[in-house]
Amino acid sequence: MKIKRYKHARRYLNFYRNIFHFRDPHQILIDGTFTQMALRYKTDIKDQMPKYLGGEVQLLTTKCAIAETESLGSELYGASLILKRFLVRKCGHRPNPVSASKCFMSLVGEKNENHYFVATQDPDLSREVHKIPGTPLVYINFNAIVLEKPSAFSQHEGEEVATHAVTGGHQTDTLKQIKKSVFGEEEQKKRRRRKQKGPNPLSVKKKKKKKVDPSQMRKKTEEGKTRRTRKKVKIAKHVKEHLQQKATAENR
Ligand SMILES: [Zn+2]
Repeated sequence: MKIKRYKHARRYLNFYRNIFHFRDPHQILIDGTFTQMALRYKTDIKDQMPKYLGGEVQLLTTKCAIAETESLGSELYGASLILKRFLVRKCGHRPNPVSASKCFMSLVGEKNENHYFVATQDPDLSREVHKIPGTPLVYINFNAIVLEKPSAFSQHEGEEVATHAVTGGHQTDTLKQIKKSVFGEEEQKKRRRRKQKGPNPLSVKKKKKKKVDPSQMRKKTEEGKTRRTRKKVKIAKHVKEHLQQKATAENR
């Protein structure tokens, strides 16, 4: 499980590096929901984040995120303490702080040009992050940090970037490589499933033949002469049918 988690993280990070030009140290915007979860499951963010992402990281937050966490009362006291240990990124909301969600999205902007990661457990913020291509989302699942699979928007952007960046015969190969590296073999599986759908034309033909057969079969058993030997030997259906038809023709 642990190995798989790391393997996925490598894959997704490679995607962000190749398509969106992410470089170390990764800048991670962290909100109070994330530190709260880390506290609950005793996850040491400072220790685990660089290990998991396999390189240097900058753990960041904003005054808005701290203010929001503090405003939520004593339950989030510990979470706000952890948050305060991180570097504070200037957000420009100073006199009138906004929600962490709004604040982070204003830093990410429309293209996430500063290559921020967003670390949150907030489903609303996660949804907003998904809409901005090239914005990695990090969350905590029990005591494990998880880098989410690139969103559909990121995947789409990735395909476009790959198509424009490469020309000629390499184009499809590169696209395939990127798809494979990020999304594994899922696409292939889907194709296989599609192939299996729908009736097999061969089996349909056989059924039609069977409809004709029963009367002939009964005739055969009534006569009962050659039946025994045929039953013992396993003969392919179509051979059987052929033999039966031949036999009835002869009997006539
Ligand atoms: Zn702010």
